[in-house]
Amino acid sequence: MTTAINRPTRTHYCGDLRLAHEGDRVTLYGWIDRRRDHGGVIFLDLRDRTGIVQLVSDPAKTPATSGLAGDARSEYVVRVTGTVHLRPEDSLNPRLATGQIEVYAEELEILNRVAKQLPFAVSQNDLDGEKAIAKEELRLRYRYLDLRGDRMSRNLRLRHEVVKAMRRFLEDEAGFMEVETPILTRSTPEGARDFLVPSRINPGEWYALPQSPQLFKQLLMVSGVDRYYQIARCFRDEDLRADRQPEFTQLDMEMSFLSQEAILDLNERLICHIFKTVKDIDLPRPFPRLTYAEAMARFGCDRPDTRFGMELVDVSEVFAVTKFKIFAKTLESGGVIKALPVPEGNDAISNTSIKPGGDLFSLVQQYGAGGLAFVRVRAGGEIDTIGALKDSLTDGLKARLLELTGAEPGTLLLFGAGDEAIVNESLNRLRLHLGLQLDLIPADKLNLLWVTDFPMFEWNEDEQRNEALHHPFTAPNPEDLDDLVQARAQAYDLVWNGVEVGGGSLRIYQREVQEKVFEAIGLSAAEARDKFGFLLEAFEYGTPPHGGIAYGVDRLVMLMAGEDSIRDVIAFPKTQQGRSLLTDAPAGVEDKQLKELCVASTYEPEA
Ligand code: ASP
Repeated sequence: MTTAINRPTRTHYCGDLRLAHEGDRVTLYGWIDRRRDHGGVIFLDLRDRTGIVQLVSDPAKTPATSGLAGDARSEYVVRVTGTVHLRPEDSLNPRLATGQIEVYAEELEILNRVAKQLPFAVSQNDLDGEKAIAKEELRLRYRYLDLRGDRMSRNLRLRHEVVKAMRRFLEDEAGFMEVETPILTRSTPEGARDFLVPSRINPGEWYALPQSPQLFKQLLMVSGVDRYYQIARCFRDEDLRADRQPEFTQLDMEMSFLSQEAILDLNERLICHIFKTVKDIDLPRPFPRLTYAEAMARFGCDRPDTRFGMELVDVSEVFAVTKFKIFAKTLESGGVIKALPVPEGNDAISNTSIKPGGDLFSLVQQYGAGGLAFVRVRAGGEIDTIGALKDSLTDGLKARLLELTGAEPGTLLLFGAGDEAIVNESLNRLRLHLGLQLDLIPADKLNLLWVTDFPMFEWNEDEQRNEALHHPFTAPNPEDLDDLVQARAQAYDLVWNGVEVGGGSLRIYQREVQEKVFEAIGLSAAEARDKFGFLLEAFEYGTPPHGGIAYGVDRLVMLMAGEDSIRDVIAFPKTQQGRSLLTDAPAGVEDKQLKELCVASTYEPEA
């Protein structure tokens, strides 16, 4: 193989060629997507990050390249120079953006060959147009090949476009300034487990990787930065539930002197800008809002998917006098009874599914519920059920039940009874499950909404203390200062089709309020000083009122890409076990390194 020092420069990307280029002489670089030999005429699909174009090497028209074209194989790296031609009528390909033209390969240079059998086909354009998708483990092991393929390379580009739109809006339209904050730092207040890094030059002391830039962005407000943003990497050492990564990316923002209304307004404009630029979608404004209390009451969840109905109804009052023991006991002990109306549920769901051992029964059990009671609404508003509940339903109760739930004939009413949190969580899960199962969720709907007025705290049963629901720097609603423990927070989340994509709050900016909140979460004055003393101190040097928000970039891009996992929109993600299958991190280190760090090895080789 010759090594040309003066190779011609690329004139176009493959995917950009169109009929308008007919007759142009072009130079392209890329990978062979696939090769077809039609009786000596070789067709090569050439791929680069923009797409695919067809090359033709024909012994009659391009004799110089026909031998080499026959040698080319999938994923060979080549340079081609040739002329753009209109394809013959019978080989036009409307599925391809470049499908009207082809390039005659007048010069062809193979720059690199594939030495080994490919672990999977990079080309996602097999003859049926079906996408051949390899197992995720294999894709992560050979991520560079995976990213070369159409789907992942589109996702990478989309991610880039989303982040670019964020930067453009924040910098050019809203006066934000990007500031980097430390990666080697102290514990931040998000409440997850920290990743720790030993300090070699301060033996025995440790940095924590930031769970978010929270404290630094607040300090930047004290500094007068006024409008800060950062595309920030955050680290949380959590067990990797379904769709989490130990390191993830946030669009992190903080603003001074803005009310909650002004912050939400600015953020809606940001989100609209992103959707318009990236997807050409005009989102209606203002975004709908729900208070936390309303969301919990109607959906049993603080990030409701509002694309479909089936809202929960509190029917406790209907059963205030009932002979049905389970319900009576629930109400006596301060619990609630809520109904989940399933339209057409009578036909779709059998008694077996609901009764012990059934799939719906098992589902709610997973979330702590004891089981499900149910009634079926029949023609003419007749109500029909089984067992003890049947005997205890008087005509009056039936009428009231219909009135409260608005249930039409055909509806199945499923009841959760017990502790409010458990009823909410189990019926929420049931609602989402049935929404999918009964095909009630319109896939093309896009519902963005704000959830506001979260409670400040949540009771942590294990630790027997109040825990900040968001983080302890969130400002309480000034109307609720008399009873901080019950206070609403000035906090807000942005929810997209049932997924929380962003969350933030107005912050506390007065030392006394901050100290009260620390006290409420059971942090002693000494602990507060030790952990967050620098922030408390800053509050005494002229802190402006401020607030902010952070968006999960990975989730946002995942939703925009229509993917189900954030791993599909992160260039080099880790597995559920926190491993990189590509680099095989994490890995052991040498004892010498541990010694330098004054860290004792806990690694015990097997005997
Ligand atoms: N730092 C917060 C978080 O990561 C977001 C915020 O309050 O701005 O959840």
